[in-house]
This record gives sequence, C-alpha cells and structure tokens, in this order.
Amino acid sequence: QPTIAGVPTDRLTAFAAREAQRYARSRPKSAKALADGAGAFLNGVPMHWMRDWPMPHLPLVAKAKGARITDIDGYGIDDFCLGDTGSMFGHSPKPVADAIRKQARHGLTYMLPTMAAMEAGRLLTDRFGAFRWQIATTATDANRFALRVARAVTGRPKVLVFHGCYHGTLDDTMVTLDGGHTVNRPGLVGQVHDLSLGAVVCEFNDLAGVEAALAKGDVAAILTEPVMTNSCMVLPADGFHDGLRALAQRYGALLIMDETHTLSTGLGGYTRVHGLSPDMFVVGKCVAGGMPTAVWGMTEDVAARFNAYDATRPAGHSGMGTTLSANPMQFACLVATLSLVMTKDAYAHMEKGAERLAALLQAAITAHGAPWHVVRVGARVEFICAPGPLHNGTEAATAHQPQVEAAVHTALLNRGCLIAPFHNMMLVSPATRPRQIDRLGLAFDEILSELFA
Ligand code: PMP
Repeated sequence: QPTIAGVPTDRLTAFAAREAQRYARSRPKSAKALADGAGAFLNGVPMHWMRDWPMPHLPLVAKAKGARITDIDGYGIDDFCLGDTGSMFGHSPKPVADAIRKQARHGLTYMLPTMAAMEAGRLLTDRFGAFRWQIATTATDANRFALRVARAVTGRPKVLVFHGCYHGTLDDTMVTLDGGHTVNRPGLVGQVHDLSLGAVVCEFNDLAGVEAALAKGDVAAILTEPVMTNSCMVLPADGFHDGLRALAQRYGALLIMDETHTLSTGLGGYTRVHGLSPDMFVVGKCVAGGMPTAVWGMTEDVAARFNAYDATRPAGHSGMGTTLSANPMQFACLVATLSLVMTKDAYAHMEKGAERLAALLQAAITAHGAPWHVVRVGARVEFICAPGPLHNGTEAATAHQPQVEAAVHTALLNRGCLIAPFHNMMLVSPATRPRQIDRLGLAFDEILSELFA
C-alpha cells in the first residue's frame, strides 16, 4: 500500500477530492465574483502566487478584524495565516487603525520626516537595540539595502545564505545547493545573471561548511533568519548562533539577522530574547501593524564604517531608497505598533495561545499515530508532515509534502480555519481567542482521523 507522509495514497486522493468539492459547493459568490472580475488580471489573480493556494478557487474577503476574516460567501474564518505574519498582531489593531485615520487627514507621503518619525526611531532602538535605523517598505528591500551596505563596507562580493532560505525576492539570495555547488534557483523568472558570483549557499546548522565558505575571504555578510521559518521550521542547534557570530568575526564578514518571521519569538524578536549580537538587523511585515513597512539597522561600528565609505563614494544613485518609503503613514503606524500593540502583554497572550495550539496539534498527531511533528517559536507554530526534528534545508525539502498539505489546508478551511499556504504555519495573535485555537485543534484532529483511520 503506497503512502505519502504516512497516509495511504488512495485515501488521500479521495479525501482531497471530497474536500475540494465541499469547498467549491460552499462558495458560489466568490466563484461568481472571480468569474466576473478576475479577467482583468494576469491569469485571473492580482498577484501571481495567489494561484498557488490549494483551494479550487480563492475566497474573496469582505472584511477582517482581530484574528477573524469574513468572506463574501458569509463564512467567518479563524485566521491563523494572518497575512503570513503581516498581520501577526491581528487585523487592524485599534491603535494602528486610529493612527491611520488621524494621519489620513494630514498627508500620505512627502519625502520629509515628521515628529512621529523621531518618536519611531527612539522606539525602534528601545525595542530592538542600539542600531542606526533606516526605513523601507518591504523586508525584501530592507534585506537588499542591508546587503548593499555590507558589500560596501567589506569590499567583498558575496552573501552567504542557507539552503532553503527565503529573504524576499531579492535576487542575491535566490540561490540553492546543487551537488554541493551554489546555483540559481531553477524556477526564477527571467533570470539572466549567474547569481553564484554574488552568493554562496551553506546548510543551516553546519558551522564547518560556513567556515569553509568564509575562509575563501569573499563573503561580505552572512544573511540568516535566527530560525529557518520558510523551510518547514528548522531550529538552530545549540551553539549555532554563537558559532556564526564567532566565525563572521574571525573572517571579517558581517552578520545580518532577518527577524521578519521570528519576531514571533517574543518582545524584541529572537535576537533580544536569546541575546544575539548581529551587525545588522532587519524586520518587516508586521512591524507597523500591517501597514507596508520594514526597518533595517546597523550597529554603531558598521555605521561608522559605512560613513567612511560614503564620504569617498562618487556622487550619484546609491541603489538604496524607494520614493514612498519613510512616509508619514508608516511612522504613525510604527509608533502605534511599537508603543501600543507590540507589548509584553500581547506577547504573553500569543505565547500562551501558541503553546496551547502546539499541544493540541501534537496530541492529535500522537493519537492518530501520524509520523508528523510540531515545532513552535513563540507565537509561530508549524506542523510538519514528517518525523523531526529537522536540521537543515535539505531535510526540510524532503519533509515537505505538498500533496498532503494542500488537502489538509483545504479541509481546514472547510472547517473554518485558515493557515499559511505553501507550508503549515500558524500564528497566534494578541486577538486570537482560546476557542479559536480549540476549533483549529478539533478540526486538525478530525482531519487526521480521516487520513489515518
Ligand atoms: N524575510 C523573511 C524571513 C521572509 O519570510 C520574507 C517573506 N516571507 C521576507 C523577508 C520578505 O518579505 P516581503 O515579501 O514583505 O518583502
């Protein structure tokens, strides 16, 4: 009897078909609205990856508040995807919605700072540490600019990234390991450059591999998440971060910590909670409560090196910027989020809820004898349809089971629960209620009882 992730293949196929049918039958309004309106978009979607959601068609959202979405077919959905972290603090947190309303009367973008900008700078330092900050609009851009500075101050070409990482769409990181060599990711659209000229890939948790790469002397920066959250979820081994810090130092590379997802860890992100000391710090997505904003910062030391470089740089475009970044709406939302939303109490609620969720999922996995496991980093929980723990991106790629995951995601949505697409990530926000968590636990248990009957 062939199986996928422990599930008999024919049972999985029948289950997936049943759930797809149930979904399609239950959402006639979304189906009609898409049929009527989606033709204006390339392939019927405003963002090409929306086609990769596993449901037969997308639901259209009518509104969202807290940890709940209502779709135009009238279904209330417990939202554990939360915009894949963009809304980790809940949809439209009141202080952010109020700040937007207020700022909306005073201009949306003017290339000049406000009093709120001054306040945001102080709050960023207070929350994340003594970095010299810059504001961007996406985490992709923040990583791109951080990497520029790292290359500028070290005079070296390469970024060291980990196999299976995701740091946004910046080209430099769109590389993978192929037979031990760094190569372009094969799925890249219209990629004409050999990205291995500016990047080297190592396995997460492999300090010897990192040292071998650094020893060549051409690495400007290690760019990493504290936990690999975009490859299932891979935790750092004991001593890995200390090792990275020491190796970067020894070989003259900078260490850039991308906290865009691991901000789920607790107040100040994984860096603060675990006392890491990166040279540069990046966080995006939810840092301004869902208003498109990212921040990146560098230590005093890197700032001094950058200023020395900058003083001798020929005049002209720096390659860092974007016109709408550092706009007054971003600052209003940053201040509201950092001072009133991203609080100790909020994190305590998130942590407690996520602990409860992880326990429920693990209990279901154990009860049904599924060869699966659960990983949690603060408010972020992931079930993985393979035994664990995972140690690196290669193991994570093998553990990823798209066919099973797609069926489970659709089935969860049929039971009123939305989780992040493309992997199995769930976030608990300050607005998430215990009964929502219990509903997700029950739905997951019911699904496993069908898959592993
Ligand atoms: N860094 C990490 C760790 C991410 O997971 C992502 C997006 N998933 C990004 C950066 C890029 O964020 P954005 O798409 O908002 O630019």
